[in-house]
Parts: sequence; structure tokens; C-alpha cells
Amino acid sequence: MLQPQPHTGSYYAASVNHVTDYAPLRGEQRADVCVIGAGFSGISTALHLAERGYDVHVVEANRVGWGASGRNGGQLIGGLSGEARMAARMGPGSEDLIWEMGWAGHDIIRERVKTYDIDCDLKFGYLSVAIKQRHLRDQQKSFERMERHGFPHEYRHLSRDELAETIGTSHYIGGLLNMANGHLHPLNLCIGEARASVALGATIYEQSPVIDIEKGSKPRVITATGAVTADFVVLAGNAYHFLEPELKGHLFPVNSFIIATEPLTVEQVAQINPRDLAVCNPNFVLEYFRLSADKRLLFGGRFNHFGVESRKIRKFMIPKLHRTYPQLRNTRIDYAWGGTIGVTINRVAQLGRLTDNILYMQGYSGHGVNVTHLAGQIMADAVAGTMERLDMFAGVKPVVVPGAHLLRKPMVALGMVYYQIKDRL
Ligand SMILES: Cc1cc2nc3c(=O)[nH]c(=O)nc-3n(C[C@H](O)[C@H](O)[C@H](O)COP(=O)(O)OP(=O)(O)OC[C@H]3O[C@@H](n4cnc5c(N)ncnc54)[C@H](O)[C@@H]3O)c2cc1C
Repeated sequence: MLQPQPHTGSYYAASVNHVTDYAPLRGEQRADVCVIGAGFSGISTALHLAERGYDVHVVEANRVGWGASGRNGGQLIGGLSGEARMAARMGPGSEDLIWEMGWAGHDIIRERVKTYDIDCDLKFGYLSVAIKQRHLRDQQKSFERMERHGFPHEYRHLSRDELAETIGTSHYIGGLLNMANGHLHPLNLCIGEARASVALGATIYEQSPVIDIEKGSKPRVITATGAVTADFVVLAGNAYHFLEPELKGHLFPVNSFIIATEPLTVEQVAQINPRDLAVCNPNFVLEYFRLSADKRLLFGGRFNHFGVESRKIRKFMIPKLHRTYPQLRNTRIDYAWGGTIGVTINRVAQLGRLTDNILYMQGYSGHGVNVTHLAGQIMADAVAGTMERLDMFAGVKPVVVPGAHLLRKPMVALGMVYYQIKDRL
């Protein structure tokens, strides 16, 4: 039997504003919409639906935000991944719409934080940093795109020297500052949105792994202790999904890990990140970092590992941190954790329909903090009968790796090696 799992030992779990304790699903329930999974995808969808007056029930195997949503780098990054592929599918004239959708999640988050008074340390300011000349060329392209769209926020190139002054490291050759992107405490955002949904009438069941879905005109979502019969079901389990193997074969799971230092001193903060920016390099096997509200350095990256043991994560991540910030060599590491990201091979997020009344959302390829919020709105539109944006995503055929869901570990290992080689080119 599938067993609910405890929260990871993340800094976020240790600094959460509210611990959720929603009762498991029991007996036969009825809803307009049943959402499976209480990460950003599921909770964002539930809140969009509850705001429109739908009776929505969310069934979560573990706890709200237990998956990638409660463990991630907290970097709020604009843009959809796989934009070129989407533009090719949607044809000429789609550029404006794709650009708009790439920033919609930011607006939704900003609005929700304000409307529901969600304390999640939302801050604006982000630096994309370059390691190679081709990264600088890509940054130039992003800059020109911002100019074309009359980007209303501060954005500019930073030279190597300016960068060293701004983030206290000479590890990078240049950067692009973007003050529309930012960072936040993801678990507190997810739980805040869950609480807002419940206040609007939604029901959340925790510790309730879904073991089957009876398909039909009124699909029935089944757990060991109960069931929800609904007009629509939304699958939002993403990389942690353990139903519907067909969907799993469309996703390529990638693991990412984060370490958090002890709180830094005022002098250290002034030296390594006085503007409190989120920082990310553009490699696939990337590194990303930022300060938490209590001034810890949260330093994340990807490497080829499947476990969650703190010792192993520290062993890989600490040398990476010291390469970027040798001055933090004597700084204590208080937390180490990891999680799984759903990456699609063509990088386009997968939003679509399994049947007329079973919708799915997954595979944001590392841009999930932003795009899950847009995706939730698109799901709510689809339930209400407006399919336009859902069909834009559904129209991009996924690249499927046959048997990927059966060969999970070897696939991840193979994929990481492939991307490590690509990053070096
Ligand atoms: C370490 C790490 C760092 C990252 N950093 C960033 C970042 O800085 N910026 C960014 O934009 N993105 C980042 N991401 C990606 C981002 O976190 C994800 O794209 C996003 O959180 C996906 O949200 P989700 O709700 O779709 O999936 P998840 O948050 O993984 O939620 C899925 C939920 O579904 C539940 N579930 C699955 N199957 C069932 C079932 N059968 N029954 C009931 N419940 C089920 C799971 O328990 C889980 O809670 C990062 C991810 C990781 C792991």
C-alpha cells in the first residue's frame, strides 16, 4: 500500500508559518472538481476555481507543498520554457501571446500575496549570470526581446566587475539584471494559497494517496479510505505522480538539491548580495542561489543523485558553494535537501486532457513557480469551458521516451550525463 511520507528536512519546512493538518479523505464525497496533488499546480488550480465559486476538493498523498513546490529554490523566473517550440507550433503572430503568458504567473502571485495577505518573503530582483560567451549572446537576445516588448521594469547588462560588486564573486563573466523576477519562500506561498482556497470553500485532504481513478461521465477518485466523485478531475502530481503511466512516460524526472547556510553576518551579506537578488546560471546542470529572509545563503544545483540523504547532498553541494564563494568556507551548513522536477524533452509544459473530463498539468522544466500559477488559471478556464490556452499547450506533441517510467533511475543518470556534456560545449 502507498504510504504518505513525512516532510523533507528543508529549511522551508523548518521556517513554515503554518503547519497544515487537513483530515484524510474518508467515505464517499461529491465535488464539482477533484484535484489530485497539493503542490503549486493543484493548489493554484483550486484557488482559481474556488474564486469562481466551484466546489473543489484537493486530494494530496502527503502534505500541502510536500513535493517540488515546498522544496524549490524559490526563484520567480519569467518566461515559459520551450517558447521557441510553442511559437513554431502556434505560428506567426504568437510571440506577443507567449510573452504575455510568460509573465502572467508573476501577476497572479503578486495579486494573491496582496489579496490574501500571504507572508512568503516575496522580493523582486534577479540576476541571470553567464559562464560562457554563448550565455552572454543569449542574454543579449533576452535583452533585445525586453526592448521589443517595452519591458516596464528595470533591466540591464552587468559587466564582470559590476557583477563582482553586486554578488561578491568573480566566478561569472557577465549578467543580466531583471527587477521583475524575484524570489520567495515557496512553502509559505503554497500553504498560504491553500488556506485561501479553504477560506473560499475548497476542501483539502492530506495523507490521502490516490490509488485509482474510475473514468466515466462522473470520474471517481479513489483512496484507501474514501472517494470523490466529480464532474472534472485535474491531475497535478507532476514528477511525483504515481498514476497514469502514460503521463509519466512524457516526463523526464531531474533531481535538484539545495543547501542552506547558517544566517550570515551583516558584513557577509553586504559583501555577497547587498541587493538581495536571486541568482541563476543558464546551464541545464545549473547552480542557483539567493538569501532567505533570515539571511542564510540558499545554494542549489543539480547533480546525478537519486537519494535525499543530507550527508550525500552536502558532499556534492558544499564544494560547489565554495567554488563560487570561497569566503564562506568556514560558514556552517544547517540544512540540505532535494526534490524532483518534471522536465519535458521539448521543454514545453504539458497541459492537456486525458479524457473530456480528466485534465492534466505537468512538466514546467524548472520554471514552475511562475508557470504553475498560469497553468492553474488555464485549468480553471478549461473547467469553465474556455479551452483556447489549454489547446495551445495540448497542441504541442510531447516527445515520448518509451519505457521511461519503468527505467526511472537509468533515465535520470543518462539524461544528466547528456546535459552535462551539452553544458560544457
Ligand atoms: C530542488 C528544486 C529546486 C527548484 N527550483 C525552482 C526555482 O527556483 N524556480 C522555479 O520556477 N522552479 C523551481 N523548481 C521547480 C518547481 O518547484 C516545480 O516546477 C513546481 O513546484 C511543480 O509544482 P507541482 O505542483 O506541479 O508539483 P509538486 O510540487 O511536485 O506537487 C505534486 C504533488 O502531487 C502529490 N501526488 C502525486 N501523486 C499523487 C497521488 N497519486 N495521490 C495524491 N497526491 C499525489 C505529491 O505528493 C505532491 O505533493 C525546483 C524544483 C526542485 C525540486
